[in-house]
Amino acid sequence: MRRPIIVGNWKMNMLISDADEWIAGLLKNSYLTEALDIVVAPAFTSLAVLRDRIEKSGIKLAGQNIGQEIGGSLTGEISATMLKDAGCSYVLLGHSERRQYFAETDEIVNKKISIACNQGLNIIFCVGESLVERNNGRTNEIIEAQLSSGLANLNLIQLSQLAIAYEPVWAIGTGHTATPDQAQDVHLYIRAWGKKLFGTNFAESTRVLYGGSVKPETSKSLMNQSDIDGLLVGKASLKIREFCDIINSLF
Ligand code: PEP
Repeated sequence: MRRPIIVGNWKMNMLISDADEWIAGLLKNSYLTEALDIVVAPAFTSLAVLRDRIEKSGIKLAGQNIGQEIGGSLTGEISATMLKDAGCSYVLLGHSERRQYFAETDEIVNKKISIACNQGLNIIFCVGESLVERNNGRTNEIIEAQLSSGLANLNLIQLSQLAIAYEPVWAIGTGHTATPDQAQDVHLYIRAWGKKLFGTNFAESTRVLYGGSVKPETSKSLMNQSDIDGLLVGKASLKIREFCDIINSLF
């Protein structure tokens, strides 16, 4: 049985003062962490504040990125160890916005995943096809290529720290959520691919999240699909009421 997981990705939004008010709302629902993982990925600047507020609540923190080296002279970058120091147990990697706007290749994503694994972080590894790729019938091919390159040379112990997020690029930030059937098809494909490459245990234990314009109205029907284990929520996570509605729609 895979434990459900809901992740809020704030992207480049919210100030420390916003974070303080937001987390107060979420803490009222923190008893739900008995039943699912609730993870928040704020901007780096809000991490330490949230770490202190969520202490002993069961809510978990994620970084939105790490640098591609363990440490050193890389001005402006944040290391995996720094994320842990700031209270993170998770990191998002391979997000389409990083791929698109920061030229992150599959090879860079693979390097970051390897570093994050070795530093003991749980990884939410994002994959997804563009609209053109979907319309050309290339969805599975694109997903498989991203998975194969992103997870190259990782061993089963490292892979046990992994969750995969299927985030169709055409659904992110567009308001067009994938239908439950569209998402389920790709999740099933990801699980079958995982079984072929890494075996039944990996396929059955690895959580596969859906992300892309998830709203309180769409969350339940997505989570009702047998291969959707969690949700990665961008815009709707910025309003604490909507994020809590998404969490509560599962019950
Ligand atoms: C995301 O960026 O991971 C995401 C899912 O965003 P949104 O929910 O806004 O589409």
